Amino acid sequence: MIHAYIGLGSNLDHPEQQILQAMDELDCLPETWLSRVSSLYASSPMGPQDQPDYVNAVAKLETRLAPLALLDELQRIEKDHGRVRKQHWGPRTLDLDLLLYADQIIREPRLSVPHPGIAQRAFVLRPLEEIAPGLVVPGLGAIETLSAVCNDQQVRRIQ
Ligand code: ATP
Ligand code: CA
Ligand code: CA
Repeated sequence: MIHAYIGLGSNLDHPEQQILQAMDELDCLPETWLSRVSSLYASSPMGPQDQPDYVNAVAKLETRLAPLALLDELQRIEKDHGRVRKQHWGPRTLDLDLLLYADQIIREPRLSVPHPGIAQRAFVLRPLEEIAPGLVVPGLGAIETLSAVCNDQQVRRIQ
């Protein structure tokens, strides 16, 4: 089994419910088990500011799916949640990012792992630190160090 970490985000149509439902759906993927979930966090939007605040969380999966097969499943779940891609970093019902896949570094046209935004985003680092203290992000270093660098970003734990 491979450990994979998924970043979840939503700022439309009952964000907390979108995230909690997506966690159940991750647990139902083929050859995949949900092994840990973070608390929910509230964060300000990146990019366009004329949109609601986000709810974010991180989930840990144990999976036998290959990275691109897992990405396909994540994109299918986003679609099932009515995700429409309009504006870059615009509002969305559900965003599922593959943050980490074991200790692998993947650079393919459809998939970059570790997720390229990981080191700059407190709304990813805080929940990741909560469920994976001591984690080392391949090529980037200890989660605690990365998280401390982003401590100027407001992220509020809501559950
Ligand atoms: P960001 O990637 O900066 O968080 P976003 O989540 O809004 O922005 P999307 O529109 O959801 O971006 O995704 C754009 C493309 O990113 C997807 O079509 C997917 O192929 C690609 N992608 C590359 N690496 C990853 C990854 N690790 N997880 C999810 N998608 C990825
Ligand atoms: Ca994202
Ligand atoms: Ca995404």
